[in-house]
Amino acid sequence: METAGSRSRIRQELADGRPYTVGEIAGATGLARSTVVQSLTVLEAGGTVRRHPPRPVGRGRPAHLWSIADAPGPLIVLVAAAHGTTVGVVRPDGKVLAARAAPAFDGDDTGRRASSVPELLDRVLADAAIGAGDIALAVVGLPGASGFSPRAASGPSTHLNQFRVWDGADPSVILRDRLTCPIHYENDANLAALGEVTHGAGRGLRAALYVSLAHGTGAGLVIDGRLHRGRSSLAGEIGHLHAEDDGRLCHCGARGCFWHRTSFPALLDDLARAHGRRFTSRDVADAAERDESDVVRSLHGLGYALGRRLADAVVFLDPEAIILDGGLGAASKGIATGVKQALQRYAPPLMARSCDVRSGLLGRHAALVGGASLARSEQLLPAP
Ligand SMILES: [Zn+2]
Repeated sequence: METAGSRSRIRQELADGRPYTVGEIAGATGLARSTVVQSLTVLEAGGTVRRHPPRPVGRGRPAHLWSIADAPGPLIVLVAAAHGTTVGVVRPDGKVLAARAAPAFDGDDTGRRASSVPELLDRVLADAAIGAGDIALAVVGLPGASGFSPRAASGPSTHLNQFRVWDGADPSVILRDRLTCPIHYENDANLAALGEVTHGAGRGLRAALYVSLAHGTGAGLVIDGRLHRGRSSLAGEIGHLHAEDDGRLCHCGARGCFWHRTSFPALLDDLARAHGRRFTSRDVADAAERDESDVVRSLHGLGYALGRRLADAVVFLDPEAIILDGGLGAASKGIATGVKQALQRYAPPLMARSCDVRSGLLGRHAALVGGASLARSEQLLPAP
C-alpha cells in the first residue's frame, strides 16, 4: 500500500540521482511493484521524481525509468589521515568529477601543512568547474572510530582532536570557511568499504568485509547496503586484534595489536631492511607486476598472516566476499592469494569456499566514491 513511508523509502533509493526501473526499485526496497507504481505516481505529481524514456528489459516490454526530479548537487569528499589528504568532488551517483591528493606527510610534524588543505579544496573545485555554493554535502573520512551521526556536524568535531590532522586544526573549521553545506564524518575504511560494495568489486553483495591495507590494517563491514559500525563505532578494526602479549603499546590503548607486525607498512619496513633500500607501495606494486619472486612471496606471506585472522572473522560473519584494498595495485593480487590459502587452511571448508577473496576495483578513489554511497545509504542528501 502506498504510504508516506513507501515514498520515503523510494526517495532514498533514488537519492544517487541515477534512473531506475520499477522492477529495480521494487527489488531494492522490498516494496510490491504496485506500491512502487502508486508511490511514484504521487511523487511525480508533487514534482519529486521524473519519468525518463523507456529502455528495453530482456524480452519483455521496455520499462520506464525513474529518477529524482532534480538530482542534488555534487559532494565534496575529503579523506584525511596521518599520511596525507585526498579531496574529491563526487556526483551522488558515485562518479568522481575531480580529485587531488596532498603530498604525503613526512611522518613528522614539520611535514604537516594545514594551509595545503584549503588550497587543495579550491583547486579541486576549479578542476570540477563547480562553485563552493553548488556542493550539496561534505563527507570527511578519517581513521579511528566512526564519527558518523545522522545529524550534520554543526561545529568543530571533538571526535577529531586525537588525530591532530592538519596541524591540529579541525577539518570542520576549515570546511566551514569555504562551504555552507552539511558536513558528516565517517571512518575512512568504512567509506572505502561502502564505495567498493556499491560501485566496485562488491556490487550486488549483501554482506562483504572490506580490508584497508595501504596505511595500516583496518576493515569495514557492509551488510544489506549499510555499514555495521557497532556500539563503540569501531566494529571491524581487525588491526587491533590481539597478537602478542609483550608487543608494542598501540595508540588504541592496548598492547601487541595485530597490525604492528601484520600490515602493508610493516612489510615495506621488512623489505627495506632485507634489501638495504627504501621501498614504497609503488615499488612493491611494480615488483608484483613484474612477478619478482621475493616480493611476491612476501605478499603471499602478508596475505597468509592476514587470512589466518580473517578466517575467524569469516566464521563469525560468513560474508559473501572479502574485498582487499585496491589502492595497492598489483600487490593486492599477491596478498589475495595468501588470504585464500589461509582461509582454506583455517576456516571450515564450506565457509572458505563460499567466501570469495577479491581485489578492490576503485583503487585510491574507493573512499571518495564511498562518500556518495554514504549519502545514499544514510539518506543525507536533501530531497528536492
Ligand atoms: Zn591497537
